[in-house]
Amino acid sequence: MLSEKIRTLPESATLRASERAKELAAKGVKVLRFDIGEPGFDTPAHIVEAAYEAMRKGLTHYGSSRGLRELREAICQKFEEEYGADLDPDDNVIIAPGTKYAIYAILEAILNPGDEVLLLSPCWVSYEGITLLAGGKARFISSNRNFRPDVEALKEGMSKRVKAIIINSPNNPTGVIFDEREVKAIAEVAHDEGALLISDEIYEKIIFEGKHVCALRFMSPEEGCVVVNGFSKAFAMTGWRLGYVVGPKELIAGINKIMQQTVSCVPPFIQWAGYVALTSPKSEEAINEMVMELKRRRDILYEGLRSLKGLRLIKPKGAFYFFPEVEKPDISSVDLANYLLERYAIMVVPGKPFGGYDKHIRISYGAVGDVEIKEFLERLRKALEEIEGKSAS
Ligand code: PMP
Ligand code: GLU
Repeated sequence: MLSEKIRTLPESATLRASERAKELAAKGVKVLRFDIGEPGFDTPAHIVEAAYEAMRKGLTHYGSSRGLRELREAICQKFEEEYGADLDPDDNVIIAPGTKYAIYAILEAILNPGDEVLLLSPCWVSYEGITLLAGGKARFISSNRNFRPDVEALKEGMSKRVKAIIINSPNNPTGVIFDEREVKAIAEVAHDEGALLISDEIYEKIIFEGKHVCALRFMSPEEGCVVVNGFSKAFAMTGWRLGYVVGPKELIAGINKIMQQTVSCVPPFIQWAGYVALTSPKSEEAINEMVMELKRRRDILYEGLRSLKGLRLIKPKGAFYFFPEVEKPDISSVDLANYLLERYAIMVVPGKPFGGYDKHIRISYGAVGDVEIKEFLERLRKALEEIEGKSAS
């Protein structure tokens, strides 16, 4: 029944891991969930209240397919205040049902069959699937061993077929933050080669050390810079499905047609909540509290993971993931993740779908407490010792 494209489309490795963990939990297995990338905090009360208020006021009908004007204006204001960018709310911004859909709509709008998208890997699992879904070809450009982007390799990877480059900083799954020099150099490659630079900045606010570098500082929308972002991470709004695209006028108009022909619009009361999230002074406090708590978890896990034998890891500076390499045992990341689940009831995501990192696992600490972290480290220690023992014997 299915088209060739959908039949061969990979499932989302993160969502599949999460479904599997939930199924086991429903059967009574106490699974330690270090899988899905989600901040396990409540959406701040003032944002929830704003959605109720908007529903009571009647924001319950179809709205503009480009999105609520107040929200688009607030996004322009944010970019002006934080990064000095000069954007037009009608021409340069469109609201989407989540950042994932925003990326899909961009690629759907620009790709012809056979066009390529370069992905700086390791990278989020869905870039590849979304590229395939939009009819393109994904090609990975590996970063160096410390997960810094390899600009020379990117240059070599360019060709006439490359329509876009996707970057993501702070990065899922590594937690690396690209510095000014790196973002500038990548923007120059995109600019010189006439490719779009799609910068996924969804973890922009989740930073423990260093600072976020917005790609718009080095390339304007009309020069081909596209920024995607959303409300899932900074405001703990994963279930609300709210994101946006900032980009050139022609692209935004193309995405608008996709919105008109698919979802029509994002629910207006959800967008109003997003407007309040961006403009209320209460939000900053909520973000700061969340980031402090995530940093605390990062520090505990970093010390714990560092003390385990057989893992190579870097200290992440942002987002809420570790992406360690399992050094010795000759076991694929998929087999390792299955083993950890079946024998130790810990759920992580295998490294392979993050761009072929088959010796790595992704550990998400967005939604776990201290008790789980302690138990996780203990079980992982035992598992690694057991695997090491087996490979030695
Ligand atoms: N980009 C990255 C790098 C992500 O980790 C995620 C995960 N949620 C998304 C985009 C999608 O976010 P959203 O919930 O807004 O679709
Ligand atoms: N982005 C998160 C993750 O990497 C959420 C799940 C998804 O959409 O992939 O786990």
